[in-house]
Amino acid sequence: SKAAVIDGKAIAQVIKDEIKTEVSSLVADGKRAPHLSVLLVGNNPASIIYVRNKALAAQYTGISCDILRIPENVSEGEVLKEIEALNRLPEVDGILVQLPLPPNMSERTVCDAVLPGKDVDGFNVLNVGRFCVNQEAFIPATPSGVLEILKRLNINTLGKNAVVCGRSKNVGLPIALHLHASQNKGSTIGDATTTICHRNTPPDQLRHFIKSADILVTATGIPGLVTADMVKDGVVVIDVGITRILDKNGKARLVGDVDFAGVSKKASYITPVPGGVGPVTVAMVIKNTLAAYKNELDYGPWNKSVLPSR
Ligand code: ADP
Repeated sequence: SKAAVIDGKAIAQVIKDEIKTEVSSLVADGKRAPHLSVLLVGNNPASIIYVRNKALAAQYTGISCDILRIPENVSEGEVLKEIEALNRLPEVDGILVQLPLPPNMSERTVCDAVLPGKDVDGFNVLNVGRFCVNQEAFIPATPSGVLEILKRLNINTLGKNAVVCGRSKNVGLPIALHLHASQNKGSTIGDATTTICHRNTPPDQLRHFIKSADILVTATGIPGLVTADMVKDGVVVIDVGITRILDKNGKARLVGDVDFAGVSKKASYITPVPGGVGPVTVAMVIKNTLAAYKNELDYGPWNKSVLPSR
């Protein structure tokens, strides 16, 4: 069999159009448009591109967006001050701090400074914790992109074997948490028997687990980690890895963790790189911004409109 290639760009387009429709009806009702503020510290070239893509996506949907560029050499305290100011602006619905941050600041401290109700990246420890105990929370863009793709494939993961390669706190771990957790009412994602493989999984064990997977998610940044001989017929493959390599002709190319040519001959569905998970991820940040605007999540005392006293 030959896999259906999942068109991430098309999925992202559908999501963005849904948001656009909703935003234009809000504005037509005389309400203000949602607003996203992005903090970009330093000049990391990949970060500049990511931030630009998010701003363009916001713009497309009618969500206003500003990018705050902060020089590389500022102190952590300066960044915290900027965040505090954005926390207090009622017309800022979503705040996003582009990672990585320069080495002189703690990403944990900075991410935790974002008011949980405005934390559209879901990196604040309160959002991470709430998510772990099944409370409403902002889910980081990459995991929610993966889930969104699985949802739109109309597969039910209940009782299936899911294998996640990679355990990073923002990507692999939350994906695995979602796949193993009991399904929310009306959802078809969750209740899978979930295995997390990581850098200390011996190669023969990695092989063994991957072979058992009905759903395989890879997020390692290791090109060619998964080859056709390793997977089961009909597996659903979501490739989150994205690595820049030079091809035979010395041309730069983006590749995932999965040998696409080989594995797509055995899989039932597969995401390409680029054009798979990436575009959907961007759309999910924008979706979170709309949710923040609408105060969709029940944050109790951490609601974005209720600021802690100084
Ligand atoms: P990201 O933030 O995109 O998840 P990281 O570089 O932070 O990427 O994480 C890479 C992940 O890949 C780590 O969790 C690491 O344990 C995992 N990993 C590295 N090598 C292997 C391997 N051979 N098999 C499975 N997982 C691996």
